[in-house]
Amino acid sequence: MRDQHSLSQNVMWKAAISCNSAYDGLFFYAVKTTGIFCRPSCKSRIPKRENVSFYSGASEAQKAGYRPCKRCRPDLKSIITYDPFESVIEDTMQIIENNYGQKISLDELASMVGVSPYHLNRIFKNKTGNTPRMYLEMVRVKRAKKLLLTTTLNCTEVGYRVGYQSISSFYHAFKRNTGLSPRLFQAQNVKNSAY
Ligand SMILES: [Zn+2]
Repeated sequence: MRDQHSLSQNVMWKAAISCNSAYDGLFFYAVKTTGIFCRPSCKSRIPKRENVSFYSGASEAQKAGYRPCKRCRPDLKSIITYDPFESVIEDTMQIIENNYGQKISLDELASMVGVSPYHLNRIFKNKTGNTPRMYLEMVRVKRAKKLLLTTTLNCTEVGYRVGYQSISSFYHAFKRNTGLSPRLFQAQNVKNSAY
């Protein structure tokens, strides 16, 4: 890679031990004793100098037999796509999918994934296009559709079953997501399946 030649081993070593993110993308360092390679900014334990070698590209480090570090993900193409909040988003989605039938507040969600409510809202929206609340609504409506089509539960029962505290909030959420009321959705689809 272009800049690697201008970096001395000493400079790279200093960047690695100080976890200097300014050097991310310019080189990678690999550790002989662990078989793993990292970005300069990685916060993993500092290895002994004699066990470290430097590579200008991730593919070169991999060719030399090193595995990408799970922490700093040097195998991901661009530093821009590396997102430390990825797991926060995934955890949030998982919690919502597992608990949609109960009342879930943004505060609770945020404390479960370890960020502030404001921050969670922002990064979730940024990454998925929806707020956690909107995502919860989508999960609930999806589940409600299934219940309406596959069970004999009436609309009210379905609303409570998927986590709504009031029937009007269930109706509104359902209509926002499907364009239909739960009753009409059920009637239309039962009719369609008769053909
Ligand atoms: Zn690493």
